[in-house]
Amino acid sequence: MAYIEPAPLLDKENPFEAMMTRFHTASQILGLEEEIYNVLKVPARQVIVSLPITMDDGSIRVFEGYRVIHSTILGPSKGGIRFDPHVNIDEVKALAAWMTWKCAVVDIPYGGAKGGVTCNPREMSAGEIERLMRAYTLAMIDIFGADKDIPAPDMGTGPREMAWLMDEYSRTQGMTVNAVVTGKPIVLGGSLGRTEATGRGVMVSALAAMEKLKINPYKATCAVQGFGNVGSWAARLLAERGLKVQAVSDLGGAYYNENGIDIEAAVRYRDANKGSLEGFKEAQRISGGDILTLPVDVLVPAATEDVITASNAGKIQAKLIVEGANGPTSSKADSVIYEKGISVVPDILANAGGVTVSYFEWVQNRLGYKWTADRVNRRSDRIMKDAFDNVYKTAVDYKVSLRIAAYMVAIDKVAKTYKYRGGF
Ligand code: NAD
Repeated sequence: MAYIEPAPLLDKENPFEAMMTRFHTASQILGLEEEIYNVLKVPARQVIVSLPITMDDGSIRVFEGYRVIHSTILGPSKGGIRFDPHVNIDEVKALAAWMTWKCAVVDIPYGGAKGGVTCNPREMSAGEIERLMRAYTLAMIDIFGADKDIPAPDMGTGPREMAWLMDEYSRTQGMTVNAVVTGKPIVLGGSLGRTEATGRGVMVSALAAMEKLKINPYKATCAVQGFGNVGSWAARLLAERGLKVQAVSDLGGAYYNENGIDIEAAVRYRDANKGSLEGFKEAQRISGGDILTLPVDVLVPAATEDVITASNAGKIQAKLIVEGANGPTSSKADSVIYEKGISVVPDILANAGGVTVSYFEWVQNRLGYKWTADRVNRRSDRIMKDAFDNVYKTAVDYKVSLRIAAYMVAIDKVAKTYKYRGGF
């Protein structure tokens, strides 16, 4: 298979450039008109706010918050909110564009957005996080809306923060608006199946890819980087489908056991240990970087971006990489991985199970109805499998990697919709 060389990068690869490199390549293969390329390459809207928060000790700290809406061509924009010390506008721009492509790949009627606050929630009390979340919501009150822009959790945020967001937003509207945000606790209109949805989609797309690669899940080994929502659920569900998960890691360390890690035990340990795997005794501690280069069949990066780079890609031994995280592979690593014959189920496909069930949550909120977990899982599994098959067929037809194929499917859909809707 011919590899189409990506566009040259700027000196320093930031997530937005990494996304643009793939966008550029896929657009070229599709023969996308320049006018539409120019529309899609820039975010539709970028908002930066300062959030002064009273800390528990009485001092006032000013946090910076962001919301980037990349596109509303397919529908209201959708995207999570990240609370992390490294959040910056470039990262949020890239993540917002990824949401556009992700929603388009799985064919759900949303555009793409992302939000974030530069903060370290691990060093903040629940009260400080609540005040920050409420302040962020008020600052974005004209942006958010059930038909406009619908946030969700991402790194560092979860159902608790989404409940505060829903409550703060609802207060300003004088009524309960649960469809303004997804990833809520079940009692507030959250969907059954949402918590595990992203990890479940990783599992479904991993199994679909393993079938094509003729890897028997019952004989396969796996390593999972990141043991938060996505990583721990992916590890748990892959183990349930027969894979031997030999290594898991988080910021508290990387842990390896040749005979397989008992994922339930690791989850219990993490939950009892302030959310960290640090000190997990049922496996041997290895260096954090080594988890990516272990001799396993399947590697699931499910932590953060830019962990597989040109410098370590050559050492990867896995046959299949399934990207639970957004942007874990730098664009400079793409060609190294492709030349090595490693298949990659790209982020915009592999982790789209989360936004799919977020969409189901929004649909249920608007219907005023609740689906069973079984219905949610069956429908999301079908969407993930159909999306995988569509991307796989495109990859075969155009002789490109699954990543470029996923971008092609997504860009084609958004471009066609844009043409029908028209512009100025
Ligand atoms: P999370 O905060 O629940 O977990 C993140 C995990 O990664 C934690 O275990 C953390 O310790 C670990 N981690 C962070 N940096 C690390 C590093 N350098 N090495 C090893 N471990 C590290 O976040 P999450 O919701 O699981 O999100 C993880 C990734 O998946 C992010 O890229 C996010 O954008 C993406 N994602 C999440 C969802 C979702 O539904 N939560 C959906 C799609 C994509």
